[in-house]
Amino acid sequence: MTSPTRFFDQVNINFDRAAALTDHPKGILDQIKAINSLIHFSFPVKRDSGEIEVLHAWRAEHSHHMLPTKGGIRYAAMVDEDEVMALAALMTYKCAIVDVPFGGAKGGVKISAYEYSEAELERITRRFTFELFKKNFIGPGLDVPAPDYATGSREMGWIADTYATLAPQDINALGCVTAKPIQQGGIQGRTEATGRGIFYALREVCSRGRDMRPLGLMPGLEGKRVVVQGLGNVGYHAAKFLEEDGGAVIVGLIEYEGAISAPNGLHVEDVMAHRRETNSLLDFPGAENLEHRDAGLELDCDMLIPAALENAITEENSPRIRAKIVAEAANGPVSAEASRMLDERGIMVVPDAFVNAGGVTVSYFEWLKNLQHVRFGRMEKRFEEKAARQILNAIEQTTGTSFSDTEISGFARGADEIDLVNSGLEETMVRAYHEIREIKESCAEDIDLRTASMISAINKIALVYKHRGIFP
Ligand code: NAD
Repeated sequence: MTSPTRFFDQVNINFDRAAALTDHPKGILDQIKAINSLIHFSFPVKRDSGEIEVLHAWRAEHSHHMLPTKGGIRYAAMVDEDEVMALAALMTYKCAIVDVPFGGAKGGVKISAYEYSEAELERITRRFTFELFKKNFIGPGLDVPAPDYATGSREMGWIADTYATLAPQDINALGCVTAKPIQQGGIQGRTEATGRGIFYALREVCSRGRDMRPLGLMPGLEGKRVVVQGLGNVGYHAAKFLEEDGGAVIVGLIEYEGAISAPNGLHVEDVMAHRRETNSLLDFPGAENLEHRDAGLELDCDMLIPAALENAITEENSPRIRAKIVAEAANGPVSAEASRMLDERGIMVVPDAFVNAGGVTVSYFEWLKNLQHVRFGRMEKRFEEKAARQILNAIEQTTGTSFSDTEISGFARGADEIDLVNSGLEETMVRAYHEIREIKESCAEDIDLRTASMISAINKIALVYKHRGIFP
């Protein structure tokens, strides 16, 4: 069987596989699957040269079962209607899996971002935001964008400023977009949240001997040989946390310009410094250059982490994948058919809608911060510190021992925003994994983690429709 080329069809194949194992009414399943709103528009942008260019852009709001809808904005030459629909649908399932109370959305502008100056990108981003505003596709209670491929906190800052200018009466204006710069209502820990979430997720996935034994692996991340494709926001942070906090060995890295391997391990920060200096991963001292970048995907390793774009692994190259675990850090990097083939070969695929959900989780925390207009930890930090000091004093008095200053400042520390964000992120990823694992374990059929996570999403969304009913 050859996979359909449409990305949205691929997502729906995965949906249908899971839906067939539930007993929800067909109409409800159809409603969960449907794209609720979709716009395509074009707008002019003035290039630095004075020329005018017409650009195409889309925003898909996949599911209004919860509002606002939430999802990134992508700048790429391959952006089209099919891609935003697929990515919006994945966002709906992702939010449900990690209990983030949003519907899914996604948007994109069809441009290769590197061909535009910073000033041009600012004009494009502001005009794009203006178009979304005119069409009621942006607002803290309606639809809240975030970064995706080739966009980051800089673009989110422009979006927030444009929206706030257009809606000066909206006291919650800063909640119209997430992953903003901290000074503009952003939250500590958002930049690295997707990568950190991947680390928490994979630590949990690898934690049980019972799950690792069939793969021929020992439990734990320590010493796992990892290959990462794409060293952007997601891939870089995932590689960094896996190496530094998990003790994994990064044996291969793949970027646009090529791939390198080193069986004894690469230090991600050193490779990044080399890439900044030379504009390339290649020729990193002590590593081997591979013949072609995609050969990196086929390296012998324990864990492969595609973190670039969709369709990195298809039925064409899936027979050559030698990893034992494939963790979908990007959205849709393994086609539906390739995923089935990997599963048949006993390779565990950790699905995108779960493993990369750390970004939207911390975006949710940022949105909450914007609505409550106060930094997390501000009210309770000192109170917690004082309460802990009182307990330490009482222990000192009753036991006659005294704590050192270092011990006191370690034990009696109130939580800062970053502590609370990371704690909430860890709890979210761990809890979601256990829900998925339980569904997998209790299913009468032998299902993969993707199907189990999709069942988790479908059950939660169907429950919302069941309790809410269908209007009118
Ligand atoms: P990014 O633009 O920061 O990084 C992507 C990197 O991939 C770039 O460095 C690019 O050069 C590289 N790349 C592109 N094509 C490649 C190829 N063929 N081989 C190797 N490298 C290649 O984007 P990002 O924000 O890290 O997003 C990456 C993926 O993760 C996307 O699928 C996105 O939808 C998904 N994602 C992002 C977030 C987030 O918070 N940013 C959250 C969840 C999922």
